[in-house]
Amino acid sequence: MEKRLIIAIDGYSSCGKSTFAKSIAKMLNYIYIDSGAMYRAVTLYSLRKKFAGVWGINIEGIISGLKDIQIDFVYNSDKEEYETFLNSENVEREIRNMEVTAHVSRVSQIYEVRLRMVELQREIGSSKGIVMDGRDIGTVVFPDADIKIFMTASVDIRARRRFDELKEKGISVEFEEIKRSIIARDIADENRDISPLLRADDAIILDNSRMSVGEQMLWIEKLIEKKKNGS
Ligand code: C5P
Repeated sequence: MEKRLIIAIDGYSSCGKSTFAKSIAKMLNYIYIDSGAMYRAVTLYSLRKKFAGVWGINIEGIISGLKDIQIDFVYNSDKEEYETFLNSENVEREIRNMEVTAHVSRVSQIYEVRLRMVELQREIGSSKGIVMDGRDIGTVVFPDADIKIFMTASVDIRARRRFDELKEKGISVEFEEIKRSIIARDIADENRDISPLLRADDAIILDNSRMSVGEQMLWIEKLIEKKKNGS
């Protein structure tokens, strides 16, 4: 039987991890899991319950709410994509808004939140044949992943890509605001105490500042081929 792999993709926000991970999953017919969407779903829940807001966060409230949060990824065959569901509601669009984005780093710093998400991620990954992207997939969630990639790109390029993506979805946000949000999230993700964004020693760096998705796919195809052949 063909070897089914676990592919972990970590890196900075908005450097194309999900586009890349989705394309790999499609090519290999694997499951794609967007771990960031899970932290975003917890954040959306917390905002709705008023456990988070501009005033700060109610950590106890969020922890007590964890047992009432169910997150699923449901395949939408029209869009050919997995969509995130929070307690049976499709929240794929809402979890990408600026309010959730502004609060997600703080919510994802809570130890109990991480513990629960990592547990769910490992459950989903237990069947293998999975591509998961995030910040701690190669370091914490799947330290034994078959392939680990650490993605990066310049802040300007990341901000431009995010700007274009939101524009395409009809969401209008200023470029400078996006750039500020990216820089703030980089700092928060790299400097938190629990599971900070960190390159695993055995992760391969992919700086895609000047690479098209097609070029990235050719690059990964070779890597997968090598892995499958046992080298
Ligand atoms: O990947 P995305 O930008 O959607 O992730 C949103 C946020 O969720 C990140 O800024 C980070 O704070 C958090 N996150 C995390 N661990 C992961 C994935 C995302 O802490 N594995």
